[in-house]
Amino acid sequence: MQNQCERLLIIAQKLIATGLNKGTAGNASVRCQENGHDGFLVTPSGMAVEDMNAASMVKMQFDGSYEAGKIPSSEWRFHRDILASRADINAIIHTHSMFATTLACLHKDIPPFHYMIAVVGGDTIRCAPYALFGSQALSDNALAALSDRKACLLANHGMIALGRDLDDALAVTIEAENLCEQYWRAMQIGEPNILSEAEMREVFQQFKGYGKWAVS
Ligand SMILES: [Zn+2]
Repeated sequence: MQNQCERLLIIAQKLIATGLNKGTAGNASVRCQENGHDGFLVTPSGMAVEDMNAASMVKMQFDGSYEAGKIPSSEWRFHRDILASRADINAIIHTHSMFATTLACLHKDIPPFHYMIAVVGGDTIRCAPYALFGSQALSDNALAALSDRKACLLANHGMIALGRDLDDALAVTIEAENLCEQYWRAMQIGEPNILSEAEMREVFQQFKGYGKWAVS
């Protein structure tokens, strides 16, 4: 059976293979309560995924301390803060994926132009205000934009997606990037029609108990 470090490595590799992350951009984390560790694992700082192995993953505590001899992703603060404040979330993925980042540079919330936006847990994907990468301000802005949501954009930066496990977080990442691409494409040729509150309520109703996208 794979341990959490191996599963996190596989997700980091999938983010490169799917083109969602390129080079050393992006990072991921997973809550970890294995072998007496009550904290989380995060991908290392500034390391290309092809150079990572399971032992590269950095064990962190919720007080911000981490294992000696390793350096966690510079974005460990929002990973820590999200995991600490969201009991429903066990895995986090951060990307600079093309379409999410393009729209994040416009400081644009994504409206309910397509029913699948419901997979992020609400009828919008919010864009968190700009703050310096790695800063506590960025983490605070992200946490607010993620309230009742499983994804948000980060202005002039990228996106964050959350899941109950790593596979769920990857599925949300892929769908959020898809939605951003569709919204961007629709805007090239017109003004997308936006679903009404009543129409979105029906979507949430329909999603209840509907396989992997089931909303509670
Ligand atoms: Zn980033």
